Amino acid sequence: MNRKIIIAANWKQNGTSKSLNKLASSIIKGINKTTRKCEIVLLPPSIYVNEIKKLLETKKPYNVFLGIQNISPYNNGAYTGEISISMAKELQCKFCIIGHSERRIIFNEDQISLAKKLTLAIENQVKAIYCVGETLSEFRKNMTKKIINNQLKQGLDRSLKLLRKNPEKLIIAYEPVWAIGTGKNASEKDIVNTHKYIRKILFSMFGTLSEKIRIIYGGSVNNKNANTILNLNDVDGVLVGGASLNAKKFVEICSSI
Ligand code: PEP
Repeated sequence: MNRKIIIAANWKQNGTSKSLNKLASSIIKGINKTTRKCEIVLLPPSIYVNEIKKLLETKKPYNVFLGIQNISPYNNGAYTGEISISMAKELQCKFCIIGHSERRIIFNEDQISLAKKLTLAIENQVKAIYCVGETLSEFRKNMTKKIINNQLKQGLDRSLKLLRKNPEKLIIAYEPVWAIGTGKNASEKDIVNTHKYIRKILFSMFGTLSEKIRIIYGGSVNNKNANTILNLNDVDGVLVGGASLNAKKFVEICSSI
């Protein structure tokens, strides 16, 4: 099956209004015919989403979409500091990240709340980029498959019925925790084997519908290694942190498919 490649820019908690407007403008300017083959997703800090939305409305790039880095596990209500999926949707966010390892580890997000977030995203027709991946000590103990199996089952089980109706709304991001922001990406062999394993689990959950679910890789992707990674079997895109803060590098990544 032909799945459209996704290149997602996770800007995390970086930048200012001025710098991120400049970054987004340069990325949009750098996009060319080659990059039209993929879906490009910009994920600014929540407070700047509205500004980038306005920029996209003005520049109207063909294939650049907006996303949000995190959502609340609850609908609107008394949840100080949180941002609901309906708020993100109102600001034209078409994608959201759920379960990034920084949220799991630094903010202690548990599987129950991640599963709730996933249901809310799919119910609201927002595409969920659900992150899974092992830590360095788990990798060293050869526990990658076990960890990923648990994260997939615990995250998706609650939404199975919904997801069967909307499989294309789910994107799995395989992000080995030890590869994020470290400059050490997983080996080609490990990426291929893990993506193959994820696809096997998805098939056991969704049957042939699983073919519609994209599996992307994240972890120290840059303009030098993107082409190799994007050409690996079963890799349907990349989630990029550090290198997405540099317009030239990010456009090169988008152009490398
Ligand atoms: C990420 O934050 O999802 C990520 C992959 O970061 P980096 O590209 O910096 O490793």
